[in-house]
Parts: sequence; structure tokens; C-alpha cells
Amino acid sequence: MTIPGTVRAAEPQMNLLHGRASDLGGGLIVNRLLPQRARRMVGPWCFLDLIGPVRFDAGKGVDVAPHPHIGLQTVTWLREGELLHKDSLGSWQRIEPGQLNLMTAGAGIAHSEESPPDRGDCMLGAQFWVALPASSECCEPAFEHYAELPETEVDGVRIKVIMGAYDHLVSPARCHSPLLAAELSSTTEAGTRLKLDPDFEHAITVLRGSLQVAGETLAPGTLCYLGGQRDALDIALAPDSCGIVLGGMPFAEPVKIWWNFVAHREQTIRSALDDWNAGRRFLAVPGYAGESLKAPEWPQNGRLK
Ligand code: MN
Repeated sequence: MTIPGTVRAAEPQMNLLHGRASDLGGGLIVNRLLPQRARRMVGPWCFLDLIGPVRFDAGKGVDVAPHPHIGLQTVTWLREGELLHKDSLGSWQRIEPGQLNLMTAGAGIAHSEESPPDRGDCMLGAQFWVALPASSECCEPAFEHYAELPETEVDGVRIKVIMGAYDHLVSPARCHSPLLAAELSSTTEAGTRLKLDPDFEHAITVLRGSLQVAGETLAPGTLCYLGGQRDALDIALAPDSCGIVLGGMPFAEPVKIWWNFVAHREQTIRSALDDWNAGRRFLAVPGYAGESLKAPEWPQNGRLK
């Protein structure tokens, strides 16, 4: 099947990538695995932040004030802890481990993310961005929450389908291009052969413990880019391990990312910035007590990378 704006997946490879610390404010440091110089995207996945493991001091937690997005979907996935999402559509959603918060920004949305008052003090999870294809980058904004997702256990490895499809299991989450996100976990030592779509390129990251992929041991905070053209992948998990496999049809051109905006054209980002600064397009986030985030300055000399 040919999907407009996508290309044939690269040959199989194994590139181990390390993240870099990024401060989301309020003392929340995340490990940013994408984008980076050596790799901009994996299929439509254009931004990967690993959160934690972190233990918050009493009274402290996540508090990311309202900020805008366009052209992407945010995928929030927790292994430990809780978050409270509020957005300009009026959504107000608590998320717990094993659940999916999926926000489709499309033409524009604003949201905040906070630790709920009655939370535990530990957090481990991830926030990933899916770039929307050009044909749907200006779609209506939407928010979906899934308390349960399809899962199976093969050879002792638990496979939970967050987005897309694995084997006969299909996530109910709305996708705009062919993609996969699945959590792999095990309490004991276990190994299996994953079935992959050879039209996709894939990558695997580790949240906890360690994963062996084709003989290479992956530690938390690393991303292993696997290339494409694979219909199977041997993986092994150490006891109490958890990872996420991501995949999708590669985009012909990497999207442009600046601040919280994703688009296929720079002008689309510039006009979203102007609208945010002028108080247009993006509505207020009901129920958030506090100021919204200020956008950084547009690059003075030159264009977005
Ligand atoms: Mn956000």
C-alpha cells in the first residue's frame, strides 16, 4: 500500500542512540531521545521524552502550565505514577499506569499537565509525539483516553498495544498514518520473537530493567534504531523489565519542529506562534490556576532547521 508522503523503509540496522537531559520546568528533567542529530524521526514518531524514574519531594510534582500544540498527537504513557491532563476542549483526565492519553492537536489545542493532588511520589513513563501527515495536520483537535488496551502474552512477554496493531490486536486509538506503539514487559526472564511489519521502520526504548535485542543489551534511557524491512525481531527481557517498540511508515521529508509546534512548512509554525502570542486560535485551558507558558523568541537570523 502506498501512503502519500511516506517512503520505503530503510534496510535493517542497529544504531544505539543516547538521550539528553531536558528541563520541562518545575524541576522535571526528562531524557529526550528524539529528535537528535543522528536521527530525526522513526516513522511518524518525531519526539520521545522518557520521564523518570523520579521521586518527588513532598509537595512537589509535575506542573507544566498551558501551552499550545499543532500538527501532532501527544501520546502519554505511564508505568508508575499519575498525571492530570486538562485542555482547551474542556477535557480533564487523570491517567494511571497502563492507560493512554492521546491528544490530537491538529489545527491547534492548548493543554496543561500536572501531578494530581492525591498522587504517589514516584513517576516513570514517557511522552511521545506523532507527526501528523500533511493531509491531516490541520484536522480538528481531539482528546481520547483509553483506560484499557488490547494485550497478549507470548513466551512470558506481555505485549500491550498502545497505538496501531500487533498481530490480531488493534488499539482503538485514532491514527493518521500507519504506525505502532507497543509496551513489552515481563516480571521474569523471558524472550520471544516479535512480528514486525517490514514496511515500517522501528526502534525500541527501555523504561526499566534491560532488554536484549538481536544480542545487544539495551539499558533504560537508550533508543535502538532498527531500520526497516524486518518481519521479525528476537527480544529478551531481564526480570522486571519494560520497554516500548515504536514503528511506522517513514516520512519522505522530516517534519519541522519548533517549541511545541510540528508542521510540514515553516510558515505554518510561524503563524501558530503569532496566534499564540496574540491570544488567537488557542483557547484557554479551563481549570488551570496560573499563567500560560510564554513562547521563546523566533530564531533571529535564519530559518528553522
Ligand atoms: Mn504538551
